[in-house]
Amino acid sequence: MLAGELRLGGAQVLVLERRAQPSQESRASTLHARTMEIFDERGLLPRFGAPPRRDQGHFGGIPLDLGTVPSHLAGQWTVPQTQVERVLAEWARELGADVRRAHEVEALGGTEGLGAAEGLGAAADGVTVRVTGPDGPRRIRADWVVGADGEDSTVRRLAGIDMSGTPATRELLRADVTGIDIPDRRFERRPHGLAIAGRLPSGATRLMVCQRGAAVARTTPPTFAEICAAWATVTGEDVSSGTPIWINVFTDASLLACRYRQGRVLLAGDAAHRQMPSGGQAINLGLQDAVNLGWKLAAEATGRAPDGLLDTYHLERQAAGREVLDNIAAQSALLLGADTDPLRVLVTGLIQQPAVRDLLAGTISGVGIRYAGGAHPLVGTRLGHVPLGTDLAAGGTSSTALLRKGWGVLIDLSADPARRARLDDLVRSRTARVRLVSCPPPPAGSPLDGVGALLLRPDGHVAWVSAGADDPTPALRRWFG
Ligand SMILES: Cc1cc2nc3c(=O)[nH]c(=O)nc-3n(C[C@H](O)[C@H](O)[C@H](O)COP(=O)(O)OP(=O)(O)OC[C@H]3O[C@@H](n4cnc5c(N)ncnc54)[C@H](O)[C@@H]3O)c2cc1C
Repeated sequence: MLAGELRLGGAQVLVLERRAQPSQESRASTLHARTMEIFDERGLLPRFGAPPRRDQGHFGGIPLDLGTVPSHLAGQWTVPQTQVERVLAEWARELGADVRRAHEVEALGGTEGLGAAEGLGAAADGVTVRVTGPDGPRRIRADWVVGADGEDSTVRRLAGIDMSGTPATRELLRADVTGIDIPDRRFERRPHGLAIAGRLPSGATRLMVCQRGAAVARTTPPTFAEICAAWATVTGEDVSSGTPIWINVFTDASLLACRYRQGRVLLAGDAAHRQMPSGGQAINLGLQDAVNLGWKLAAEATGRAPDGLLDTYHLERQAAGREVLDNIAAQSALLLGADTDPLRVLVTGLIQQPAVRDLLAGTISGVGIRYAGGAHPLVGTRLGHVPLGTDLAAGGTSSTALLRKGWGVLIDLSADPARRARLDDLVRSRTARVRLVSCPPPPAGSPLDGVGALLLRPDGHVAWVSAGADDPTPALRRWFG
């Protein structure tokens, strides 16, 4: 995702990936509304076919209606991570990213040399990367490096970026098993722990089990015998006659990188945050990091960025990460805690209240996020899909369609030719990747009712709003230079 975004922003991109082949592991399978909106904004949705969608999600195992969030792609979409990775890899390559598999990053340093994190400070004018590929080790000089290399991030370690938060206290064992026939269990809390079982389309059964009080200090992967023992303790069922086709474990560790940027090194995705994948938020959070970072880093790398733009990545996405990690921690407590039955009853009642439902569903779906920055209630929010009538130059359009190129958009809704001419002069006088679009005033009931003009960032968040004829120059300078 980040490689594609950087290419849209005009940067040269080299992706170094340790794996020789894409992973076939069964990992994330849920995309939420905001991620689907982003894919739509980049014209990627058709590449996903028609994935299954449902309204019902959950919060800590308590049913939560996600179908009511204000999005044209509301709900929970089932898309295997393997498909997400394939689609995004194709897209990034088409846009000109150089993706090299079987290349492992082993050392980082400033331009002076490798292995010294201090050489990566703000004063460095580049980063040296040692990578070993099929032809042996070599050094690469980059202006910027982004560690999007997962929760055990090598880049994070080499850059000396610490994580803070709470270590693991519980673990959830997972296995896909063939040859067993057991009842489905949806978030079943039992005296000895939590059990989840469901039949997959392939015919295998996915088991997840958290045995209360089990130790979490693990140095080796779990065995099938361990999973069978935990399953038997929690449910009383014997699944040992089955054949495991995949075994995994994750914990409730909740850790956030103390800095998302260290000089010319940045972190995105699981490299920046470690969390339990409750509510299927982990992959969504990472994809949204990438879309926040791409246009900013591309502007920086190509010399267009205003001062401070790149630092807004840390400010905005660390805050977003903290919010998600907090809600995941609350869900873990509700789902896995021993004494939480009264709390679950309370939350089950509260979730029926539209205001509570909307708040939680907005958070899980990612559409509720608002970056700090302005007094107008729309500033900092993502605009989402708003039909905009007829663009004077290009025919009928929408906020989604306007973001396809990954440029900023100044949207003039004044229907005033003189205002349009002034805004046109402003935009034309800049080298920034911003274009002007004029559309008729939005009808009553539109989210843009009463708005005279607005500035949309390439990531779909609102940077500036005017009800009248205010001058957008300060906002254009702040976000686009
Ligand atoms: C068992 C399991 C189940 C999950 N279920 C869900 C779920 O249901 N919902 C959800 O939202 N999330 C889920 N997740 C989490 C989700 O898979 C991650 O959040 C997501 O993969 C993070 O993407 P990423 O690109 O940040 O990191 P990763 O997907 O980990 O990608 C990092 C990449 O970097 C490469 N790499 C690492 N080190 C180096 C190096 N030194 N040099 C070169 N390349 C390197 C790796 O090979 C890897 O391809 C699950 C994860 C696991 C493990």
